[in-house]
Amino acid sequence: MGFEDFIREIKSSLGEDILLGEVEKYSRDMWPLAILLEKLGAWRARPAAILAPRSVEEISLIVRKAGEHGVCLVPHGGGSSVTGASAPRDDCVLLTLSRMKRVLDFNPEDLVVTVEAGILLSELEEWLNHRGYTLRHVPQSFHLASVGGCIATLCSGQYSTGYGGIEDIVVNLEVVLPWGEAVWARSINTPRSSMGPDIKQIFIGSEGAFGIITKAALRVLPIPRHRVEASFQTPDFEKGLLAVRELMVTGLTPALARLSDETESLLRFGREKPVLLLLYESNYEDVLETIWRRAREVVEKKGGEYVGEEPYRKWISSRFNYEEDIKLIESMGLWFETLDIAATWSKLPQVDRKIKKALESLEEKPVVMAHASHFYITGASLYYTVLYRKDPELYWNIVETFMKTAEEVGATLSHHHGVGILKRKWIQRDPGASATILEKIKKTLDPKNVLSPPGLSSP
Ligand SMILES: Cc1cc2nc3c(=O)[nH]c(=O)nc-3n(C[C@H](O)[C@H](O)[C@H](O)COP(=O)(O)OP(=O)(O)OC[C@H]3O[C@@H](n4cnc5c(N)ncnc54)[C@H](O)[C@@H]3O)c2cc1C
Repeated sequence: MGFEDFIREIKSSLGEDILLGEVEKYSRDMWPLAILLEKLGAWRARPAAILAPRSVEEISLIVRKAGEHGVCLVPHGGGSSVTGASAPRDDCVLLTLSRMKRVLDFNPEDLVVTVEAGILLSELEEWLNHRGYTLRHVPQSFHLASVGGCIATLCSGQYSTGYGGIEDIVVNLEVVLPWGEAVWARSINTPRSSMGPDIKQIFIGSEGAFGIITKAALRVLPIPRHRVEASFQTPDFEKGLLAVRELMVTGLTPALARLSDETESLLRFGREKPVLLLLYESNYEDVLETIWRRAREVVEKKGGEYVGEEPYRKWISSRFNYEEDIKLIESMGLWFETLDIAATWSKLPQVDRKIKKALESLEEKPVVMAHASHFYITGASLYYTVLYRKDPELYWNIVETFMKTAEEVGATLSHHHGVGILKRKWIQRDPGASATILEKIKKTLDPKNVLSPPGLSSP
């Protein structure tokens, strides 16, 4: 009984190579504070051990044995969480799905692909593109994030306005539960089912605390044949938001929409006014022409000025260059955090104004810029990049001010980054019922805390 016996039994059942020795590689995720602390020599987290199973049967065995020996596990996908959700715990074993990347089934008639959860989003997209299909799910971490991790964090990609977040793409899930049993949320793939609650939703966004996602059935689409890529300048950020609102409520939903505020527009596009990027796609050229003509009319009526394709092209060709952005920030002697929230249309303008005002009133003012890139009929997400002097104390001061203000104005404190270590304090004091229900689900499913990721459900 205990950690040593657990490792011995796992090695004897699954072979020596079930253990990985790459402790440094798994010492943190992509939470900017963890990277900063590592640079300052103050990040000490390391996994107790790393296990890399090859099948759902191996995961079931590991989870069952972990329960028997009182060992805790932290599931791990691509390690790209930006909230510390996949940071290791030195008292737990990290379980990586990096050896489980197979495409298991593809049914073009039903438009469903079934994969092992460790496959990266970019690997799956490449596989689909070769066959003329797409997932249309491209977060900026496209080359880093796994399908399982993306589902576990309720992630959202650049085409979410047109094609939905990951919750709209998942058709079915296989999970290994905290006692080791592997189950599918539904025994068959159907577009929808009202045979009781939609159980898969409990695992979408659960950050590995309720079960280990081992397989996913996902809906795909044929790659659309025609597209219009467009850019506008809007008089100000608020008017830009109003223009996109008009598109959303009049049925002119773009495949992709991205509105940068003045500061971000200046830095990214060298333009002083907010830049709005739009993508429209269709399989029919005439349909596309009509929708695009109407969309352009709507944006121009709201004060937008069409500025051609160039800003869109600039963004699309640099959209994964986050490493260069980080180097640039460091060259200015600064560090960064990105904070993602969402609110309804009536609240968005004041959310933005109040957050910027609150951060500007800090004694040591950070540089703040925002964009909106996930739009809905009822509202949108706002995404803030905050640049500050490399100081962890200053960091928490900024985050506290940000969260407090966003909470007061009525925004959700996470739109797609999930909870992790960064936001766990706020979910626990959420006055709504969800924190209580989550706690009860956790206690029921996993009374021994076998699954112990450091964020959601962690004390
Ligand atoms: C440069 C950059 C850009 C990003 N852009 C976006 C973006 O555009 N949109 C967005 O939504 N996010 C973005 N993110 C955040 C991050 O990529 C997402 O949260 C992503 O979904 C995490 O996937 P992952 O496989 O890396 O998960 P990990 O970081 O490995 O894990 C995240 C959480 O999920 C759990 N988990 C992982 N795999 C499983 C599994 N199979 N079963 C159960 N639990 C599991 C872990 O325990 C952890 O709690 C970005 C991150 C970076 C670094």
